[in-house]
Order: sequence, then structure tokens, then C-alpha cells
Amino acid sequence: MAGTLQHPQQGAARRNELSASQAPNAAFLGCSDSRVAAEILFDCGLGDLFVARNIGQISNPNTTATMEFAVAELGVAVIVVLAHCSCGAVAAAINQSSDSPQQVSPAIRQELEEIRPAVQQEWLSEHRETPYVDPTKIDADAVGRRHLALTINSLMRDSKIVSDAVAAGTLGIIGCQYQLEEGRVAPITAIGKLRLQPAD
Ligand SMILES: [Zn+2]
Repeated sequence: MAGTLQHPQQGAARRNELSASQAPNAAFLGCSDSRVAAEILFDCGLGDLFVARNIGQISNPNTTATMEFAVAELGVAVIVVLAHCSCGAVAAAINQSSDSPQQVSPAIRQELEEIRPAVQQEWLSEHRETPYVDPTKIDADAVGRRHLALTINSLMRDSKIVSDAVAAGTLGIIGCQYQLEEGRVAPITAIGKLRLQPAD
């Protein structure tokens, strides 16, 4: 948060150390947003984090397989689902739920469909007058927090490897929302076994 990055484990020695194998500390499912690179936010180096990113950190067969690989093959004990404030994908999903949605490509529309349940939940929690969302009257970051919880639910539902590891106590999943201005990563929701130690 203070901007005093150490850039650890990014040199040739670390690269050589990892040439035969990897043992990352955590898996990340994060948004592709250029401001939300997990390795930079958490000041990590080579071999530290196993990362999948897409717009709006959506859980789909591709990201499920990636998280399963991290758990089953690499033995990570923590999956971090990393959302962020001012997310363009969340804003686009809100727009798609309004009465005058912008044209988007079929591929993008399919991705945004994964965020729309969170948009509907948030809108209907405050507004009953119309199912069409008014983008000026909805808290986009609250939509993002709902989407975060739903993403973790989807991952648990779609992956027996992940849900079995959580049930066995060998895996924890934590959903966080990154605040762009402060650089703070706020934990929003968690499931399974997590032994987190506060940073000093
Ligand atoms: Zn985003």
C-alpha cells in the first residue's frame, strides 16, 4: 500500500532454482484489468503465484481446470479470487442489464452473462419497480462483491477436486476486492481452512 516494493525472487538465481519444478504458495483467479496484476500487488516473484485471469474473474471450464491443476498437481493450499473496484466487466454487465444495452460481441456477451446474476441480485435488493437496471442507481462495487461470492460458489459446485479439498481441510478459498486508489486488498468472503498471518 505504501508503494515500497521489494521485487523479490525475480532474478536469474530464482529462475535457475525453479528450472526443474514449481511449488507456488497460492493460486489466483483474477480480473485481466491491467491495474490488477497479482504478482505486482502482492510483491511476489517467479514461482510464487499460479495465476488465471480473465475479464471479471469469471469461473468457467477453463479457469476451473486451471484452479484444479493448482490444487491437484501443485498442492496449493489457498485459492484467492481477486476482484477489484471500478471493474470494467462489472460495468459492462450492468449495462447489459439496462433497458438500452450496448452492442457487444457474442463472446463478450457470453462472459458478461456470468456476472449478470450478481447485477440482478443487487438491483432487486433495492429496486422492485422495474427489472431493467439503471446504471446510475446501482452500486457497481457491491455488484462486484456479490459476483465474487457467486464465483466461489460456482468453483465449488463445478469442481469436485476443489470442493473435496475444502472438505478435507487442505484448501481454503478467499475472495478479495482490491481498491485501486489505496492499494488495499480487502477480504470479502472465505471458505474452508485458512491460516492467515497478519503482515508485520
Ligand atoms: Zn475488472
